[in-house]
Amino acid sequence: MSSKTQEILDIYKAKVMPTYRPSIVLANGRGVTVRDIDNRPLYDFTSGIGVQSVGYSHPKVVKAIQDQAAAMTHCSNLFVNEPATRLAEKLVEISGLDGKVFFCNSGAEANEAAIKLARKWGASNGGRYEVVTFRQGFHGRTLATVAATAQAWCQEGFDPLPVGFAYADFNDLESVKAAITDKTVAVMLEAVQGEGGVTPATDEFMKGVRALCDEKNLLMICDEVQAGMGRTGTWFAWQGYDVKPDLFTCAKAIAGGLPMGALVSNAKLADVLSAPSHASTFGGNPVAAAAALAVIDVIESEKLLARASEMGALFREALQGFVDKYEKVLEVRGKGLMLGLVVDADPREVVEAMAAQGVLALTAGKNVVRFLPPLVLKEDTLEEAVDMMSDALDCVFGE
Ligand SMILES: *Cc1c(COP(=O)(O)O)cnc(C)c1O
Repeated sequence: MSSKTQEILDIYKAKVMPTYRPSIVLANGRGVTVRDIDNRPLYDFTSGIGVQSVGYSHPKVVKAIQDQAAAMTHCSNLFVNEPATRLAEKLVEISGLDGKVFFCNSGAEANEAAIKLARKWGASNGGRYEVVTFRQGFHGRTLATVAATAQAWCQEGFDPLPVGFAYADFNDLESVKAAITDKTVAVMLEAVQGEGGVTPATDEFMKGVRALCDEKNLLMICDEVQAGMGRTGTWFAWQGYDVKPDLFTCAKAIAGGLPMGALVSNAKLADVLSAPSHASTFGGNPVAAAAALAVIDVIESEKLLARASEMGALFREALQGFVDKYEKVLEVRGKGLMLGLVVDADPREVVEAMAAQGVLALTAGKNVVRFLPPLVLKEDTLEEAVDMMSDALDCVFGE
């Protein structure tokens, strides 16, 4: 390790709360490549956890940010700003939900808004408030979204958690039925679970949840924070299932690396959150909104939805090769460029070995190596990265 990296890591360890365990100091990025502080290049197959979908420093996104920053960085929601207004119009258009948008600053905050909207609607629709979520899901780190995230590693030590959540098993419609009571107002799920292990919902399950919500007058809420904005080959992962949720949230990839979250509703729920019931000082920040408009423009003009499907198919084939080759590599899961490799090992070992070879990956759940590469990934870069992954797997699982 260089003395520069060591110096920064020493300060980091002394002064930053140990909520993460990083060992690489990054300085800049371009496309799929990031460079550490000593100028070592790495392929980022994490996209900064699903954020840099159009690649690092895309010229159109950089220009949009620079221009808007020079014009006005913030004006509060006591006034209207044009980029956020145009972005709301665009999100309603690409989702086809016919409703309205609430802007905030992160995935957890967007999910909080969804839960609050569901409760507000439930209060005048039978006095209902309970939200069914899934044991393998992930919804964020605020107290309510931690309560919605039914996983011990996320909840332990934070009691008492907000009440009003019931848990079911993913891809198990019977367990959803069993979790519904006369207090249930909504079912909240990820169409493709990220942190939980890169598990897509089955077609039958998504359609079943929609039908159940219709039958019992419940809201179907999709958390698109990780799978949304094109990653699975459609703008939003639920669009791959021929169903429409009542509400969905997005964040991570929406604004090209700037913090932004959004809650999108259908027409029925468009005016449930009205003044003064909910707000966010920075929500709809014009710089983030300008970046988001540029991101959507890039996804459209560079045809990145189709690219996510095409490159996803190629990458999946390469990962399947690893399953065939190594006894301890068990399965490929996911959709588009949201892929997981199930391993019979601690996935952190594999992620570390891959970083040593020059490609960054993530873990998910207890036994999954997760890949969320930028959607601008090209075939030759994928091939190079797959060779590096192969060398890493040789190191971990022997050859
Ligand atoms: C990352 C994530 C969140 C939380 O988003 P933050 O921006 O970290 O608050 C919520 N839901 C899903 C599915 C996520 O992947």
